[in-house]
Amino acid sequence: MTSNLTERANIVVVGGGIVGLATARELLTQHPDLRVVIVEKEAELSTHQTGHNSGVIHSGIYYKPGSLKAKVCVAGHRAMLEYCDAHHIPYRLCGKVIIAVDESEIAALNELYQRGLANGVQGLELVDPPRLREIEPHVVGVKAIYSPNTGIVDYRRVARAYADDVRELGGQIITGLRVSRVEERGPETIVRTTQGDIRTRFVITCAGLYSDRISGDRANVRIVPFRGSYYRLSPESSDRARALIYPVPDPRFPFLGVHFTRTMDDEVLVGPNAVLAFAREGYTRWHVNFSEMAETLMYPGFWKLAKNYWKMGALEMYQDFVKAAYVKTARRYIPELSSKDFLPGRSGVRAQALDRNGVMVDDFRIKGGGNVIHVQNAPSPAATSSLIIAQTIAAQAQSQFGL
Ligand SMILES: Cc1cc2nc3c(=O)[nH]c(=O)nc-3n(C[C@H](O)[C@H](O)[C@H](O)COP(=O)(O)OP(=O)(O)OC[C@H]3O[C@@H](n4cnc5c(N)ncnc54)[C@H](O)[C@@H]3O)c2cc1C
Repeated sequence: MTSNLTERANIVVVGGGIVGLATARELLTQHPDLRVVIVEKEAELSTHQTGHNSGVIHSGIYYKPGSLKAKVCVAGHRAMLEYCDAHHIPYRLCGKVIIAVDESEIAALNELYQRGLANGVQGLELVDPPRLREIEPHVVGVKAIYSPNTGIVDYRRVARAYADDVRELGGQIITGLRVSRVEERGPETIVRTTQGDIRTRFVITCAGLYSDRISGDRANVRIVPFRGSYYRLSPESSDRARALIYPVPDPRFPFLGVHFTRTMDDEVLVGPNAVLAFAREGYTRWHVNFSEMAETLMYPGFWKLAKNYWKMGALEMYQDFVKAAYVKTARRYIPELSSKDFLPGRSGVRAQALDRNGVMVDDFRIKGGGNVIHVQNAPSPAATSSLIIAQTIAAQAQSQFGL
C-alpha cells in the first residue's frame, strides 16, 4: 500500500474531519491535476469534533473584528448555505437569541451587538422583552440580540458530501491509517504511519485534537482537550425552546456558555459545558488516558491557565458532576424547566490550543514552513467556516508550495 501511495500523492492531507476534507476538496477544485490523498486514523471519517458538535451554522457575531475567525465565519456562513442548497443537504435558518438575563449583562450584550455589526452580520436586532417573547415565548431576559440568519445543519452529512466531492475529483481517502510523524527531506516529505512511510511532495495537517503532536511545535503550543457534555430536553418539554438560545458569554473564554440548541432531528440539546478532559478523545467523565494527562500537566502553559482560572474550572467541574447545578444555570433562561426535563445527552471534546503563557489561542491558526502547512487551532466555528478555511489554506499552499 505504501509504495502505491508514494507514486500517487503530491499532497497528503492528515485528518479526515471537516477541515481536512474541505481542504482536499478545495485543492482538487483549484488544481484538478494534483494527486491528493487524505489519511485518517479512524475507520470512519468525522469521528471526532466534526461528528460531536452542536450543528450550528454561526453567523459571526462573537469574533474580534479583523480576526481570521470573524472573516471566515461570516463568509463561511454564506458559503455553507450555498453548498447545502447545491447539494440538497437539509438545513434550517431557525434564528438565535443571545440573552441578557439581568441589567448586569446589558453592557456586554451591547458590545457583542456592535461586534456583530462590525463583522457585517446581516439582520441583527436588539430586542426588548415583548419582542423576545414573540421569538422565544418561554425565555426570560431584559434584553437580547436576535440573529435571524443563524442556522442548523448536520455537519457529519456536510463532511460526507465533501468526501464524495474529493473522490469525484480524483482524490483518495485512506481510513484506519495513523500518522506518527511528518519529516521533510529536501524536496520530499516523508509521512511516517503505523503501516509504513508515504513519500510525497507536500503535507497539510488538519489533525484536530492531535494537531500539536503532528505539528512539531509543542514547546509553544499544546492542545488542551475540553469536554463538553450535553443534556437533552425530554420530548414533553422540548417545545420550551423553539430554536437557539444562548447566554452572554464570558469574554475571557473562547467558549459560548451552556446554551439550548435545536438539532436537525428536532431534539433540544442543553450544553455543552467545558471541563478539562482526562483524555483527548475522552467523551465520558471516567475516560482517563494517563500519558495524555501527564503531557498536559507537564506543560507550563497549563499551570498558568489553571492559576488564573481555577475558580471557573472548579465551577464547571462541579456543574458537570451535580445535575442540579447544571439545571440551575440552564433555568436562568427558561425558568419553567425542572430537573426531570433534563435527560442525559451526548458529549464532544474541543481541541483548544494553549500557548506557553497559559493563553488560550482565540483565533484560527494556520502555520506553514517549507513543504508543510499545519492547522494548529481550528475550534468553533470551524465547521461553519470550513469552506473558507479551506480556501485560506489553499491560497497559502499556492504561494508556499508554488502550486
Ligand atoms: C462540543 C462541540 C460543539 C461544537 N459546536 C460547533 C458548532 O455548533 N458550529 C461550528 O461551526 N463548530 C462547532 N464546533 C467546532 C467544530 O466541530 C470543529 O471546529 C471542527 O469540527 C474541526 O474540524 P477538524 O477537521 O479540524 O477536526 P476533527 O473533526 O476533530 O478532525 C480531525 C481528524 O484528524 C484525525 N487525526 C488526528 N490525528 C491523526 C493522525 N495522527 N493520523 C491520522 N489522522 C489523525 C482525527 O481522527 C480526526 O478525524 C464544536 C466542537 C465541539 C467539540
